[in-house]
Amino acid sequence: MILSIESSCDDSAIAITEIKTKKLLFHKKISQELEHSVYGGVVPELAARLHAEALPKILAECEPYFKDLKAVAVTSSPGLAVTLVEGVTMAKAISISLGIPIIGVNHLVGHIYSLFIEKETKFPCTILLVSGGHTQVMQVNSLEDIQTVAKSMDDSFGESFDKVAKMMGLGYPGGPLIQELAKDGDRKKHNFTIPLSQSPLIAFSYSGLKNAVRLAVEKAKDNSEYKDIAASFEHIATAHLTQKLKKYFKTNPPKRFAIVGGASANLYLRSQIEELLKPHNAELLLSELKYCSDNAAMIGRVAIEMYEKNMFKSLDDIDISPKSSL
Ligand code: ATP
Ligand code: FE
Repeated sequence: MILSIESSCDDSAIAITEIKTKKLLFHKKISQELEHSVYGGVVPELAARLHAEALPKILAECEPYFKDLKAVAVTSSPGLAVTLVEGVTMAKAISISLGIPIIGVNHLVGHIYSLFIEKETKFPCTILLVSGGHTQVMQVNSLEDIQTVAKSMDDSFGESFDKVAKMMGLGYPGGPLIQELAKDGDRKKHNFTIPLSQSPLIAFSYSGLKNAVRLAVEKAKDNSEYKDIAASFEHIATAHLTQKLKKYFKTNPPKRFAIVGGASANLYLRSQIEELLKPHNAELLLSELKYCSDNAAMIGRVAIEMYEKNMFKSLDDIDISPKSSL
């Protein structure tokens, strides 16, 4: 079995996965959303302190599995430096005390493998990652063959939901709150411009849309107008993704496509991508809703692949790398 730890942002999570069967035997996550909500975003120092409290509590529940562990895996990049360190330090301590190797997992690869929890992998696949820190399209052939073909030039898709929610005083994380508010809103009420629609670039940008939404929020008479702003924002934020993907598909038609990352839970986005894929007859892979946001099960699933390839780190060279991406 492999014990995996996730602490790259504001979720403390540990999983136990059986190597041979890929079965998830244990998974527990303690989320810090409530604590950060009052600040409208994640406060790194507070997050680190909460990980230091939560991770040992979860680890204590894993004690019955200790004797069967063959490796300990941990998210080592990318993420907040002060929170990554919490997980990596715990992994080092487990490695020393149980005499087992460490596997350092890239969190974004983790999001990709959230598609395959308790399942076999299905590659090649074109993958859209939409999370709090990233918006990118990747061509994935295997664990070690991941090509990024488009990414955001500024804010990410998920981050723009967080910022719009903050402008409206709704709390954090903004994605689910905006989705809920948008449900009863008019998607056509505000005619926000689709970012980069005149540009031939296959890239993403959310800062301009965010500023246009800010003006609409400031102009609103009261918060009864927020639902139409939220609906129009969600519509344009999604149209930007589908417009650029459509352009990309002209030269790279997809046979299999997936959406991963925290914001892949967005139901409007899922429905629009389904429509986009219809003419291509492409298969759409999605993670279970509970594994879209950060979790340790996805880290454990990547770790199985890395274990089989002997991709271990020594105590000296397992280090955090907050900025590394794919
Ligand atoms: P990264 O994975 O890039 O390092 P992260 O781990 O902080 O960043 P995730 O936990 O993967 O991000 O995703 C969280 C993001 O997903 C937040 O920005 C949140 O608002 C967004 N999100 C969650 N649910 C939804 C939703 N239903 N609609 C839109 N966005 C959503
Ligand atoms: Fe994430």
